[in-house]
Amino acid sequence: MGAEHAHDVAMLNIVLLNDHPMVLKALEVPLTEAGHRVLADVSPIDWDAVVRFKPQVIVAGISRSREAAGRPIASPAEDVIGYRALMDLRQYPAITAVPIVIVGMGIVESELPVPTHYDLFLYFPDDMETFVPRLEEVTHTIKRRRLISGYRCPNPGCGSRLTYTREREHDLFCPKCGSAVAVLDDDHAIWRGPRGQQEAARMGELRVDPPAVSLHEPAASEDPHR
Ligand SMILES: [Zn+2]
Repeated sequence: MGAEHAHDVAMLNIVLLNDHPMVLKALEVPLTEAGHRVLADVSPIDWDAVVRFKPQVIVAGISRSREAAGRPIASPAEDVIGYRALMDLRQYPAITAVPIVIVGMGIVESELPVPTHYDLFLYFPDDMETFVPRLEEVTHTIKRRRLISGYRCPNPGCGSRLTYTREREHDLFCPKCGSAVAVLDDDHAIWRGPRGQQEAARMGELRVDPPAVSLHEPAASEDPHR
């Protein structure tokens, strides 16, 4: 499978989260064959190790529990194995800017109780033929889409330039210290520090003059035709 795509792709650090050892293996083998570094983990997930690995993409497996077979999902926490990991992901600012790929087993995208943003949904095992190239594509697309903002990191002693993450004007990320900033309105924001601490922040005080990139002008790197 992995040998078929001929285009040149850089090696990626990929985190695989899945509670089924066999599925984990089925996902891991084609990725390592394609030359990527993989950190595979089952619950309880060692989130500090995940952060230290500096993932460029996270693949989270979710599956329907035996109890929920043949009926709709009633309680995601009980009916969906792997749901907890998706919830936990949100607590880690350092990885909020990383693309998320969800691999569903016995559960389709329309019934997915999504607690977090994700970038690609694949169904196991049907989509495994295209798993590696699609994962590479989404990772590189999102990396390209990331833009430098006109704001600096509110973390005292950091002050590095924030980048936009997925929701361009509402979610900023510090690539240096791992802080995340959720913009509430024109001036108010919530800063979540690298240790998960939360504080109010004022966008007016974080603005860097002049802004590197206008909020409303699409940057050249965003051009989909490139
Ligand atoms: Zn910072």
